[in-house]
Amino acid sequence: MQPEQRERRTRHFVPLGGFNEVAPGVAYKTTAIVNLQTIDVPEQSSWVLVDTGLSISAPFILRAAAMRPNSRPSCIVLTHGHFDHAGAVEHLAEIWDVPVYAHALEVPYLTGKSKYPPFDPTVGGVMAQMSRFYPRAPYDLGDRVRELPSNGELDELPGWYIVHTPGHTAGHVSLFREHDAVLLAGDAFCTVDQRSLAKTVVQYREFAIPPAYATTDWDAARHSVQKLADLRPSLVIAGHGQPIAGPDTAERLERFAEEFQPPEHGRYVRQPAVADENGVISVPPPVADPVPRIAAGVAIAGAAAAATYLIKRHKAA
Ligand SMILES: [Zn+2]
Ligand SMILES: [Zn+2]
Repeated sequence: MQPEQRERRTRHFVPLGGFNEVAPGVAYKTTAIVNLQTIDVPEQSSWVLVDTGLSISAPFILRAAAMRPNSRPSCIVLTHGHFDHAGAVEHLAEIWDVPVYAHALEVPYLTGKSKYPPFDPTVGGVMAQMSRFYPRAPYDLGDRVRELPSNGELDELPGWYIVHTPGHTAGHVSLFREHDAVLLAGDAFCTVDQRSLAKTVVQYREFAIPPAYATTDWDAARHSVQKLADLRPSLVIAGHGQPIAGPDTAERLERFAEEFQPPEHGRYVRQPAVADENGVISVPPPVADPVPRIAAGVAIAGAAAAATYLIKRHKAA
């Protein structure tokens, strides 16, 4: 190895401002409701942004990145194209002038071709009620979008393996670093149970089903969780919740995979949405929705008040 290369590999990694380094060269930041990740790539003196958060996150990310010597990542990788993961992607990709990688089955939602299947507010929980108001229109990144290589190996991310983990969306991917078993799970599952308002407020760490209102194939989601459990991760960062690490991480994820239970009812529980490289082909018919929009608004206001109260109590404790 050349001295210069050796120096690069051992240089001290400085995470983006506000990001926490939780494994060598891997940092995350929770913005609003979702986690973004950066991966340092010392071999190439570069870094990669994994997911971009809501559209309002763009100025913060740009400011944090501008403080670094290499203020542009080599690329952006999206676990999937939902608004909370890809909301800032158009802005960031344009300013940085970098490619955006996503799975082929996710590309139609990033090139303006297809809307995601409708969210399912009937599946249970506050987040599901709020999904009535979430956007699902596609982004249009034009030719900045590149399909992830089908062998799972991306030149910009040496040592990492991209795992296709469909279920939450058809082209959802997770990222796995083999040498220390670090897993970025995206929304293949959560590390907080979003069905419980109290647990969500205190960010109680546990493996939990993917965001239910937006998961459109529960059989595939279960298989994907098992696929990730088989990797025996030592540290997991999911799209929602705090990271989970420790010697029992693999066992805990294995147990979760074995006991995985889809919601009891919901639009996609018995029948999945079907999609291909051109987008959505079919969705199951809507199920009875007992909560009209106005009542949902009242419920959300009540939940927000309860959340404020719980946060105050949590901080005071
Ligand atoms: Zn999602
Ligand atoms: Zn998400």
